[in-house]
Amino acid sequence: NNKLRKAENDLLRQYEEKKLYVDFLERKEAQIKYQAEHDGLTKLYNRHTAIHFLEELIRSGSSYAVIGVDIDDFKSFNETMGHMYGDMVLCNVADIITDSVVQYHGMVARFGGDEFLLIICDVTSQDVADYVHRLRDKVICPIRFGEEYHNITCCAGIMLSTDSAQTSAEAIAYADLALNVAKQQGKDSMVYYNEKMRSDLDIKYNIGKSLEKACLNDGFIIRYQPQVDAMTGEFVGCEALLRLKDNSFFPGEFIPVAEQSELIIQIGRIVTEKVVRQLYEWKLHGRKIYPVAINYSSKQLRDEEYVSFLQEMLDKYEIPPEYVEIEITEGMFLENSKAAIRLFDDLTAMHIKLALDDFGTGYSSINYLTYVPVSKIKIDKTIVDNFLNDEKEDFIGHLIGLAHSLHLKITVEGIETKDQYERIKKMEGDNIQGYYFSKPITAEEIEELSNPMVGCENL
Ligand code: C2E
Ligand code: CA
Ligand code: CA
Repeated sequence: NNKLRKAENDLLRQYEEKKLYVDFLERKEAQIKYQAEHDGLTKLYNRHTAIHFLEELIRSGSSYAVIGVDIDDFKSFNETMGHMYGDMVLCNVADIITDSVVQYHGMVARFGGDEFLLIICDVTSQDVADYVHRLRDKVICPIRFGEEYHNITCCAGIMLSTDSAQTSAEAIAYADLALNVAKQQGKDSMVYYNEKMRSDLDIKYNIGKSLEKACLNDGFIIRYQPQVDAMTGEFVGCEALLRLKDNSFFPGEFIPVAEQSELIIQIGRIVTEKVVRQLYEWKLHGRKIYPVAINYSSKQLRDEEYVSFLQEMLDKYEIPPEYVEIEITEGMFLENSKAAIRLFDDLTAMHIKLALDDFGTGYSSINYLTYVPVSKIKIDKTIVDNFLNDEKEDFIGHLIGLAHSLHLKITVEGIETKDQYERIKKMEGDNIQGYYFSKPITAEEIEELSNPMVGCENL
């Protein structure tokens, strides 16, 4: 009997041990599965799981929305407040987003960095609009850390199943395109995907290819637009404006694309060399030379050696610095002030003059005119178009007065008619640049200009 009981107990023990072991294996397996499907920090699903979920969803043919969410200024939070704080912000936003989708069938994933991907299913476009509206209100509320409150905002890009993505990759790419547009619009923006975004992307791709080719094969050419003294009509200098030799795209199209890549750095140097070499050639052929203005993009601030490159060009072609002017935009004071201030200081030390371009189109806080070392302001064509008329031209008059009181010169751009020219002359603007005197022309045409220039409305 005893023997029998012992055998029974042994069996039971063995069974328990086996059960424990199987339990352990199952738990381990679940753990591995969890880790493979989730993000370690926020415990949300990860990219891989989201893609899989979306694939199933597209296959099933149900309606859905994919929403990409990106935290505004996350990088600077992370850098100024530390990574622990950054992690807290991420977890907080993750919680808010998770709470916001509970009433829907769907999922939330961390898509890497400060990007989240939300998928909600069986929804109408109205449901999505309502949802996005509520999400924005929730995310925007201040998050408390210790004693302090911080306003966290997000951008979102939204695509719907009616956008007919064929694959999960396509759906995510659409949401991402919309998210990028939202980010360009500024903080707290929400944008729906549309078909044009995709064709824009194709165009952008083609422009990028054209630019790369032009950089390699000397595919750029400079046009020069004359600037005249408003009082006398005399030619006083010109602005260098870049063109593609094959004219495949306008500068208004290709400059922004160049600025979004590193290409602007190379292009900025190409323009600079071409202009300085042109000045050298004019000089070589015994012509009187005049200052040429070069457009400088704020994205060129990443080119830390630009100033020494410019100096090198001036030395190589033996051109005194007063024949080159650099046109900057006010965006530069906002974007990267340390690098910008260094640039202004370096250029000023070299005796290169700075002109503030596109005045009136951006923030135009008059304040910075008192400390940025520009010697000239260029009033943008949009100001001319909107204000140069009987009712409103006082405004331009005041701008000119203000500039003069700060000992700055004023160039008025986009003057196309005799009437506009006369008005600026009366208001004592200093220089005029516009089609009334000349469109941008070739270097050879510059040599043939009569001086003083004669205005003409029918160019
Ligand atoms: P921007 O610097 O404001 O240049 C002035 C633009 O206004 C030029 O256009 C010029 O052709 C145009 N314009 C001048 N007068 C008139 C006028 O009376 N009527 C009209 N309708 N337009 C006038 P463009 O050459 O197409 O250049 C467009 C923009 O592309 C420039 O605006 C500038 O921001 C950028 N860009 C051009 N070349 C360069 C370059 O070498 N480097 C950089 N970074 N940007 C450049
Ligand atoms: Ca300019
Ligand atoms: Ca301008």
